[in-house]
Amino acid sequence: MPVARAEVDVKSLVDGLNFRQKVERSLELIRDAHREYGDGLVVANSLGKDSCVVWDLAKRVSPAIRGFVVTTRFKPPETVAFMRRLVERYPETRVFRNDEPIPDRLYATDPDRCCDALKVQPTRRAIEEMGVACWVTGLRCTEGRTRTDFQEVEERDAGLLKLNPILIWYEREVWQYLACYEVPVNPLYKEGYRSLGCSPCTRIANGPDERAGRWIGTSKCGGECGIHTRPLKVSGGVGAPVRL
Ligand code: SF4
Repeated sequence: MPVARAEVDVKSLVDGLNFRQKVERSLELIRDAHREYGDGLVVANSLGKDSCVVWDLAKRVSPAIRGFVVTTRFKPPETVAFMRRLVERYPETRVFRNDEPIPDRLYATDPDRCCDALKVQPTRRAIEEMGVACWVTGLRCTEGRTRTDFQEVEERDAGLLKLNPILIWYEREVWQYLACYEVPVNPLYKEGYRSLGCSPCTRIANGPDERAGRWIGTSKCGGECGIHTRPLKVSGGVGAPVRL
């Protein structure tokens, strides 16, 4: 069955479905998209807890599903080590990074530009080089103020489907899945982080907003790096695949 593109009432699903129903729905979304897009379906793995769930779900649908990771020169060592273990176990994962020079402390003076160079551009490159027709993300609508306006199936870029199969999951359900299915996660969560990014832009934060620890002290606080909000089908992206 082709992937259903009709708009759904996301909010009613968040509280209307229980954990098991959400897992089944997520698997079905990935299964339908995989049937339609085959090898053109690729998981964008951010190495965070949500991506760990999506990656595990995708592997349950088909072990052959490929993934990509966008890393930066500012990722914490724990995240880099976690990425290395992931790629060792799943060599069908490719890593993209932009190592071009950027101004010192650009993350402090202009974080949007920094994220654009180090995250958005390598994501564009990954999509182009891997022939991605459908990318799968771990985005969730309960994660913060910037994430309420998404659908499970979207086509923000013409010719590039975006699948958000765990969009309706609560943070609790993410941890429930990781515990029940014994999925390994980045050890930084043990320190108290709830959302992980680059070292200079990530702090431990409490409160209702899960992403409140991201870009603290800048206009981007609790916001987005741009991969979910900027066009991705643009030629000329940089950030060549790297060897670990
Ligand atoms: S999260 Fe911070 S360091 Fe990383 S790319 Fe964005 S602004 Fe730069």
